[in-house]
Amino acid sequence: MKVLVVEDNKPIRMVLCHIIKGMDHHFDVAEDGETAVALFERDNFDLVLMDVEMPGIDGYETTRRIRKMCGDNWFPIIFLSSNTEDTYLASGIEAGGDDYLSKPVKPMVLKAKINAMARIAKMQDQLTVAIDNLALANEELQQLSCLDGLTSVINRRGLDRQYEVEWRRSHRESTPLCVMMIDIDEFKGFNDNYGHLAGDDCLRNVAQSLKSQLLRPGDLISRYGGEEFLILLPCTDLAGATDVAERMFKALNKTNIAYPASSVSDRVTISMGIYSTEQLLESNSTEDKSILMKRADEALYIAKDTGRNRFIVYGSEEMNFDQREKKAV
Ligand code: GH3
Ligand code: MG
Ligand code: MG
Ligand code: MG
Repeated sequence: MKVLVVEDNKPIRMVLCHIIKGMDHHFDVAEDGETAVALFERDNFDLVLMDVEMPGIDGYETTRRIRKMCGDNWFPIIFLSSNTEDTYLASGIEAGGDDYLSKPVKPMVLKAKINAMARIAKMQDQLTVAIDNLALANEELQQLSCLDGLTSVINRRGLDRQYEVEWRRSHRESTPLCVMMIDIDEFKGFNDNYGHLAGDDCLRNVAQSLKSQLLRPGDLISRYGGEEFLILLPCTDLAGATDVAERMFKALNKTNIAYPASSVSDRVTISMGIYSTEQLLESNSTEDKSILMKRADEALYIAKDTGRNRFIVYGSEEMNFDQREKKAV
């Protein structure tokens, strides 16, 4: 331990230092209260032995100032005084002291008190470590609760939180926010043909394949529903999003998850709808934040209706053409 001895009387100071040294603790000395406060400003101590009557500010005031300065950082302070009345003891505790010994102090008593305080200080340290570990564990738990157990990408709860942040940023900084809504094609058939476990594997592989194409730190993939994924691309315009989409289709094709029973291809495919706030920013619209999901979803269903294994950008010519076609039918 590092002990600060605050004592104006030199012989007493020497006796105290001798005892502390004999206990293998380190020490520093202050002959008055102001010096003690100044020492605390640049150093940490584990225990303070505090005289009460000293020139300048007394031990009580010194204690108050030290406690105020150190805030939540607790360490024991033991008063040493020749005043034995109870009111002095009470004032010492009230000022922030933890114990009060009468002078002359018997070495055995002082040693026992120092040992007791060292024990409490050690418990305090252990408590601080435990609290820090608990905070870390809480943070990890928080992160885990936002992850999807099957695919390890962010789940719906994590997405909701991040979407709110990105939606606000997009408004504040007038930067486009892009949403990709993705759905695996004929996935029910995949499960029916190859079993649910193979279906789970497929979901994991699709998630990783899509994720591998997200190159910016702010990009985010989430599992939106059973076999649906939602991707958020902050600060990304439609041209950028289209590039990402093309890369994703190539990557998934290369991942080559066999699905010979599919009516779309010989491997697992996805359909995707893309919408960007770029389209909102241009029209100065005050739409609410769910509009991105709604429109990306509309585009996704056009992609489904027009053959699957493709992406459609909301508002593109392709989409208008397809809608007119549908109405005509
Ligand atoms: P479409 O091309 O129109 O999207 O057809 P689909 O068969 O993919 O769509 P549908 O909504 O009919 O079926 C989705 C399937 O996804 C049904 C469901 O059992 C499966 N699914 C959802 N979540 C999971 C999961 O966690 N694991 C597995 N193995 N299958 C899942
Ligand atoms: Mg004194
Ligand atoms: Mg679906
Ligand atoms: Mg599907």
